[in-house]
Amino acid sequence: MIIRAVRSYWSAPPCFYSWAGIIPIMASPPFCFLISHRVALPLSWKGQTFFAWRIENKMSVMWNLWHGCHKISEGCRHCYVYRRDSLYDKDSRVVTRTAAFDLPLRRRRNGEYRIPPGTRVYTCFTSDFFLAEADEWRTEAWAMIRRRCDLSFVIPTKRIDRFGVALPADWGNGYAHVTIACTIENQEQLEKRLPIFKALPICQKLLLCEPLLGSLDFHGLLTGDIDEVSVGGESGSDARVCDYDWVLDIRRQCIEQGVSFHFHQTGARLRKEGHIYRIRRDLQYSQARRAGIDYEVFR
Ligand code: SF4
Repeated sequence: MIIRAVRSYWSAPPCFYSWAGIIPIMASPPFCFLISHRVALPLSWKGQTFFAWRIENKMSVMWNLWHGCHKISEGCRHCYVYRRDSLYDKDSRVVTRTAAFDLPLRRRRNGEYRIPPGTRVYTCFTSDFFLAEADEWRTEAWAMIRRRCDLSFVIPTKRIDRFGVALPADWGNGYAHVTIACTIENQEQLEKRLPIFKALPICQKLLLCEPLLGSLDFHGLLTGDIDEVSVGGESGSDARVCDYDWVLDIRRQCIEQGVSFHFHQTGARLRKEGHIYRIRRDLQYSQARRAGIDYEVFR
C-alpha cells in the first residue's frame, strides 16, 4: 500500500453540489444548468443545453433523472433544491421524472453516444436516487447504468437504508463502475447510516460528510471498505458554521484507519482558532485546497 499525504486538487473526484466543485448559476426545473470553475463545455440535445466538465482529461456530466425531494434530516434544512425552486414558485416536494431521464442512452446522428465513454456521471443533483417516489423508475435507471458500463457513475444519497429497493438482480457485490456516496452531516446520522452503508455490497464506497454540522466519531468503523471520506461545510446565506477542528479530527481518524481524506470545500462560515470566517462561494473550494490537508491511500 502506497500512502501519499497530499494529493492534487485536480485529481480529486468531484463531489455532490459543492462537492462536485460546481457552482450553480441557474435552475430551470427540471434541469439545473451549472457552470464550474473548472473547464465547462456546453453540450446540447433536443434544444436542451447542459454542461460537462473536463478534469484531467476526463469528462464529467450531471444526470438528473428525477426532480424533487423530501427533507429527512438536519443536513436538508437549507437544501439547495428547495432554495432554487422557491425562486420559480415550484414545489420541491413534488417528484417528477425529468426529460433527461434517458440521457446516458442518447445518441448523436452518427450513432455515437452523446456521453462519450470514460465520462464520469454524477446523478441526482436535484433529488435523491433512492427516494421512494422514484422506486418505479429506478429499475429502468439501473438498466441504463448497467448498459453504460463504459462510464463511471457516482450516486450520492441520504437514503442508504433504501439502497436495496429495486436493486438489479445481477448486482452481486456491486457494479465496478458505480460509486455510492453515503451522506452524513452529524453524529446522529453517522450512527444510523454508517453501519448500514458498511454492510452493503458496493464496490466503491465514498462517505460524504457535508454539510458538516458537528464533530464526528467513527468508532474505528472506517477500516475495510470505505474508500474515501470527503468533507465540506454548508453554503448559502443561512449556512451553519463548520469548525475546522472537526475537519482536522476527521482527517486524523482517516489517517489512523488508512482511509483517504479529502477536504473539498470550506462552506460559507468556517470557524478556525475561535474566529468565524465568512467565505465567498467562489473561494470555498480554493480555500479548502490551500489548507493542503488531503490524504490519499492507494490500495
Ligand atoms: S436529501 Fe438532498 S435533495 Fe433531498 S431534501 Fe435532503 S438535501 Fe435536499
